[in-house]
Amino acid sequence: MSMNSVNRTLVKNAGHIAGEWCQADSGATIAVYNPATGEPLGQVPDMGVFETRAAIDAASQALAGWSALAPKERARLLRAWYDLIIEHKEDLALLMTLEQGKPLFETRGEVMYGASYIEWYAEEGKRAYGKVFAAPTADKRALSIQQPIGVVAAITPWNFPNAMITRKIAPALAAGCTIVVKPSEETPFSALALMALAEQAGIPAGVINMITSSQAAAVGKTLTDDDRVRKLSFTGSTRVGKLLYAQSADTVKKLSLELGGNAPFIVFDDADLDAAVAGAVISKFRNAGQTCVCANRILVQDGIHDAFVARFKEAVEQLVVGNGLTDATTLGPVINQAAIDKIVGMVDTAQSQGATLVTGGQRHEAGALFFAPTILTGVTQQMDIARQEIFGPVAPVIRFKDDAEAINIANDTPYGLAAYFYTESHSRIWKVAEALEYGMIGINEGILSNEIAPFGGVKESGQGREGSSQGLEDYMETKYLCMGGI
Ligand code: ADP
Repeated sequence: MSMNSVNRTLVKNAGHIAGEWCQADSGATIAVYNPATGEPLGQVPDMGVFETRAAIDAASQALAGWSALAPKERARLLRAWYDLIIEHKEDLALLMTLEQGKPLFETRGEVMYGASYIEWYAEEGKRAYGKVFAAPTADKRALSIQQPIGVVAAITPWNFPNAMITRKIAPALAAGCTIVVKPSEETPFSALALMALAEQAGIPAGVINMITSSQAAAVGKTLTDDDRVRKLSFTGSTRVGKLLYAQSADTVKKLSLELGGNAPFIVFDDADLDAAVAGAVISKFRNAGQTCVCANRILVQDGIHDAFVARFKEAVEQLVVGNGLTDATTLGPVINQAAIDKIVGMVDTAQSQGATLVTGGQRHEAGALFFAPTILTGVTQQMDIARQEIFGPVAPVIRFKDDAEAINIANDTPYGLAAYFYTESHSRIWKVAEALEYGMIGINEGILSNEIAPFGGVKESGQGREGSSQGLEDYMETKYLCMGGI
């Protein structure tokens, strides 16, 4: 299977501004490669400052019309987009496996997961309520209404080429905002396919605009400098998130930042061993370890440590490494050369700092960007591997004695996105859940993201929430109306 197998109406080699498919003014393009094979998949325009400004112009011009529509009308268009995505699920999944590498069962799952935000916000947009307050004096009345914040900029990563985009566009559009999206230059085709379906669904020109670019810094600066852009929603690295936060200060933009993580996955002595092993495998190895909520440190209590490691090793050795287009594959490549080099370096450093290799530990013969699923034991919180976001199929196991030590280790990081723990004790569930300094906690559960719940982090993992009614509020402003002379 190749790009030729994908429905041609979904393969777009152009950006989208003001309802038009367009090339970069400079004529420059970016080549996109299949990480499993290294083969070129095609080209998209390499747009820059000029096109970004044009996209902001388009979003600004479309704002009045889109925000004036009844929420029910916006809901109808979002629902039509959702239906088309479901109809083209297989094509979108195939396209995503080709450009991102994760296995087809995962990309099918992501298409459904991404679409779920559109369905959910189509419904939730109808429920943006205002408030009427008890009057402060007899001659006054006080109320508040919710209004769209305005033009939104979204910058998204390559690890979820579909869902990280729908998670921003759906609440923005439901709220009545218009948007300029810059998808990752590694995975633009999935973004452009969504754009094509939005157009087919009848979402008006200028409401969604998409800029493909390798000049991320210039595009980002143009978006943050422009005072017409009232909100920036970014998912990506903490380094870039901090930069965009600083750049947004001048125009005091509202921000949603979903940045890096260093998730602890804690297995207590009283855990259900089978459930903990299954949870650790899915949490660590899905998307080849390249999610911001992936278990980054596996903390295992003394009494269950050896049994856990033995069972975990068995399960990890059953993962099937290969091209994601092959049905049996459960672990695909990492995204690019820099990613694999970083993983190799981390695993070598961990061993030189005293960690023990249990399985894996090296590149995999399936191809240049494949790494064998790896477990390291004897890891301590002081080692580099426990302090960095791994973003690869490598599981470092840290041994601990008691709850206090586990919580100390878990919280000893500037990150605070997701944490997980396994225990059968009710008392421990409450105490540990409350003590962990994280925005999301999986309790006897290795997968926690869905459209109904508020996804987001604390500390340097970001701010704002995506999903749930909070996700809609993040694209709206509260306006207080004070009426006198009653
Ligand atoms: P990742 O490690 O996930 O690639 P990045 O933060 O580098 O994380 O990338 C996430 C998104 O941010 C991508 O769309 C990328 O192009 C974009 N990006 C990278 N650098 C900048 C920047 N200086 N300004 C704005 N966007 C950027």
